[in-house]
Amino acid sequence: MITAPDALRRLGRDASHLQGGALAAVRPADAEDVVDLVRWARRHRVGLVARGAGTALDGEAMTPRGGIVVDLSGWKSIEEISVDRRSVRVGPGVVNVDLQSALRPFGLFYPPNPGSAESCTIGGNVGTNASGPRSFAYGPTRRWVRTIQAVLGTGEQVRLGSLAEKRSVGPDLLQVFIGSEGTLGIATEITLRLAPRPEIRQGWVVPLSSRAPLGPLAAGFVRARGTGLSAVEYLDAFSAEGLRSGRGARWKSGTPLLLLEIEAHDRKEAQVRGRRVRAVLRTLGVRAPPIIIEDADQLWKLRGENGRVLDERVGARVREDVAVPVDQVDALIRRLRTIARREGVPLYLFGHLGEGSLHPNYAVDPSSPAAERIRGAVYAASLALEGTISAEHGVGRLKRPYLEAELGGPAVNVLRAVRKVCDPDGILNPGKLYPDARSPSGPLSPSPSARAGRQVRRE
Ligand SMILES: Cc1cc2nc3c(=O)[nH]c(=O)nc-3n(C[C@H](O)[C@H](O)[C@H](O)COP(=O)(O)OP(=O)(O)OC[C@H]3O[C@@H](n4cnc5c(N)ncnc54)[C@H](O)[C@@H]3O)c2cc1C
Repeated sequence: MITAPDALRRLGRDASHLQGGALAAVRPADAEDVVDLVRWARRHRVGLVARGAGTALDGEAMTPRGGIVVDLSGWKSIEEISVDRRSVRVGPGVVNVDLQSALRPFGLFYPPNPGSAESCTIGGNVGTNASGPRSFAYGPTRRWVRTIQAVLGTGEQVRLGSLAEKRSVGPDLLQVFIGSEGTLGIATEITLRLAPRPEIRQGWVVPLSSRAPLGPLAAGFVRARGTGLSAVEYLDAFSAEGLRSGRGARWKSGTPLLLLEIEAHDRKEAQVRGRRVRAVLRTLGVRAPPIIIEDADQLWKLRGENGRVLDERVGARVREDVAVPVDQVDALIRRLRTIARREGVPLYLFGHLGEGSLHPNYAVDPSSPAAERIRGAVYAASLALEGTISAEHGVGRLKRPYLEAELGGPAVNVLRAVRKVCDPDGILNPGKLYPDARSPSGPLSPSPSARAGRQVRRE
């Protein structure tokens, strides 16, 4: 048990601006320890916040006043790597890149690669359903989890999912658990699905004109066939300039950049695919030659520096995470710029363009009233374009008042009911994800699914 104030200040907060007030932090040794801890917390009505690396951005991992941090970052076992099953069993505290290194000799890899891969843990990735550049081809964490062993808020242990490739036995509770931000249970063991590692994985850096419309680029890459593209990323000129200072960057900047990853089985296939990608770029009016980095992981390492660079140059800010259908990307960007102009604050933009997933960063104190207005306006813009308030970071504390605008009241009630069964006393990560029952509808007009929910209620 840790009670030193300095350590608690560090362990009680995450990468959001919210400061926690943890009473203590504990490092359980095994699942039985977690069971005892949950039973104790139920008896004493104390909140427990499961924690990996604490890189969550919306308060998902900060510990509210009086709560206890359950630090799982020491659970780093990597076992049963199976080439035949394409699976691996891990402890929740394994860091994403360490898993990649362990899998390399087996010719396998784990596709989700968040920008925080050098520090974030698999338990945290499951908690937020994280994704990264490669989700253009491979999708988010939820596609890559086979089983989860967890301790529920009742103190019971469950094993969700299956090692079988296919299964049809009712609604999938494994999927309900993924993205639940530590509010249903604490994962103590995770079995992941793996993919065969392509022989060649090139990173491309493509300079863009500052006037290039991004929507047609995103749609063009979605339509293109036979390119082997697994990532289509965008950085505006400011973010790109920042990355240039990172080790291994070899491009002159000053322009926005597209970052691509192309996979191939051999050199010949890489050349054919490369030619197809160049042809797509030409049809979309992009003529600058790409800078090719032979190992795409180097490129993603640099891309991962983006957050640090913005921290150094811009400081505390609103860091958002919305996504819209790709044909709405330009409309979203117009609205994001209008918000920046209206509030008189600089906007920095980057994200997973190929999936219509963007991270607008506004240079404004994240705890100010202006920040709250900006967040609300960004979510409203995304929902109006049939998008989402969170593409990958989660809901946490900052977005919970907006949950009902996206999901609709009836769907939020189902989530609350599931939570009630798994955690009857509300001790797991209290004050996160679910909106307060008192202000359920939040400040926004409802999304299409939320509107559908309202119609059902009237019938
Ligand atoms: C610079 C930077 C770049 C980022 N880039 C990306 C990106 O590209 N894509 C992306 O998706 N996210 C990104 N993030 C956000 C963050 O890294 C992810 O959400 C990540 O999944 C969090 O992992 P973590 O180990 O830090 O988890 P934490 O922050 O510790 O926890 C995250 C959530 O998961 C829960 N949790 C943790 N462990 C468990 C467990 N064992 N059982 C149950 N619940 C648990 C926590 O309670 C919390 O709700 C970025 C963050 C930063 C700071």
